[in-house]
Amino acid sequence: MEENNIVEQHELLDRIPIGVIICSLEGAILYANAFSRQCLGYSVDELDATIVDGLIVENENQMAWQAIRTVVLKDQTVFDGEVTLIRKNNDSVTCAMTVFGILPTSRHDQQFVLVFQDISHQKSITMELEKKNLEMAKMNSELIRSNQELKRVSELKTKFLSIASHELKTPLTSIKGYSEIIIDNMKDKVDAAVYRMIESVNRAADRLNNVINNMLDVTRIEQKRLRLKPENCNVKDIISECIDDFTQFTSRRNIPIRVSIDPDLPQFYGDRTRMHQVFTNLFSNALKYSPDFSEIELRVFLENVQEEQFHIIVSDHGIGIDKDELDKVFRPFYEIADTVRHSTDPVKFLGGGTGLGLSIVKGIIERHGGAIWAESVGTQHGKFPGSQFHIVLPVRPHIQWDDNETMLSKIHKTTDVEQEIRPIGGSQNVKPLLLIIDDDREAIEITRMVLQTQCDIITADSGEEGLRVAFLQKPSLILLDLYLPGLDGTQICRILRSQEETKHIPISFFTAANQYDEIERCYASGADDFILKPFSGKEILTKVTQLMNRRTYQSSQR
Ligand code: ADP
Repeated sequence: MEENNIVEQHELLDRIPIGVIICSLEGAILYANAFSRQCLGYSVDELDATIVDGLIVENENQMAWQAIRTVVLKDQTVFDGEVTLIRKNNDSVTCAMTVFGILPTSRHDQQFVLVFQDISHQKSITMELEKKNLEMAKMNSELIRSNQELKRVSELKTKFLSIASHELKTPLTSIKGYSEIIIDNMKDKVDAAVYRMIESVNRAADRLNNVINNMLDVTRIEQKRLRLKPENCNVKDIISECIDDFTQFTSRRNIPIRVSIDPDLPQFYGDRTRMHQVFTNLFSNALKYSPDFSEIELRVFLENVQEEQFHIIVSDHGIGIDKDELDKVFRPFYEIADTVRHSTDPVKFLGGGTGLGLSIVKGIIERHGGAIWAESVGTQHGKFPGSQFHIVLPVRPHIQWDDNETMLSKIHKTTDVEQEIRPIGGSQNVKPLLLIIDDDREAIEITRMVLQTQCDIITADSGEEGLRVAFLQKPSLILLDLYLPGLDGTQICRILRSQEETKHIPISFFTAANQYDEIERCYASGADDFILKPFSGKEILTKVTQLMNRRTYQSSQR
């Protein structure tokens, strides 16, 4: 009966998926169940004569059989831990093992029961996971480092763009200023071929100025500092002006721009100049990437039930844009590069650019609370599937206009809406006295050449000298550079405004700075106007005339 019981117990132990070995005090194996034999690679009888000592080996923090035996015997306790077992083929297998003793009875001596489970698989997964975790932590810290580096590079790029643009504008003032003086006043004094070259230099200076302004715009957009001058504007008028600007190109290349505008389109409250820039960029791209004798269409219509937003679509019949490029074209400096396209026959009309136009357009539209996207079926060799640029804009953007924006808008309006331009100094015959405070000799020279017949000009190349001359001579007008050695322009302006004898003198800043915050600083210090370098001769003459006349008018009212 008892014998049967033992057989049944062994059958049961053979079925469980856990290794069970029973050994004597000396370590001789008395019983090994099916799972333990299978796990260690032995057949039924092979384990019988084996000693446990050879099966459990010492490994790193794991104990060999003798040590385990001592623990169990000495402390009369159960051993629970990880062990390394050696298979018949000498491979090792990591197992979780429990060992406990069976106290001696009348039937047998002290025995040990070893219960174990192969955990090599879990162990390797855990190790793999730990390795992966370690790699991830490493990647994470690398990512943080590269993010910081990226941020630093981006800040450097922005700083570089801003400095480069500023530094380029100063010499550009000389190139543009001198070439314009020759074009406007010396046509009969220079050789016709030289005159044409000068015209070309002047056009190149304009193009360069445009590129610099674009770089500054991109910097402002990236720094979220694009300021707008909102006003009520008629979109139809802005579009007509743009189309007029392109007449020369559209007629030369036989690409008409067909326009359809909803007659009920209300006035749009936004920045007129910036919207002009949006249409100019979209038309210029449509022309650049379309073949001669094609067509550009522009549709503007009111959208949604309340009709509070309008939709603009500029479609062309040009080379099209591949689907995976549709978003990328709005990134700064991004061009769908394929230089061959610019010279091979079916698409030789293509002109490259700086890759800045669309990123600026997007910045302007988003600043107005609108959205822009491009659609196209993609490019097809030798065919012109075309592209469509969609813009959706709120008629009256619900955005917080900066106080400065409205302030600037007011200032610009008062300057723009100057009535007729009378000769400098009104009816008096005495030439007004103009003081230029600037350390840029070229700018002074150009201004002198443009204004010398209209004004008497005195100059100072530092702030301190400028103040001294201003108090001594009481000029009719002061042109003041923002960045000067020593006292800067705004400090000088404040001092002049605070003194009884100089507070009525019109002051215009005169600088290559064209960040709005710099302009604001100038107005806040008490300036009347702002002349940006590079300026044209006509522009400086107009501004100076306006300021002088305003002064004459104000004094006659006093
Ligand atoms: P770019 O000054 O180079 O034209 P943009 O930012 O205006 O810069 O445009 C980015 C790129 O998008 C262009 O280089 C051109 O590859 C592509 N692109 C823009 N407009 C069109 C268009 N209407 N048709 C086809 N490709 C266009």
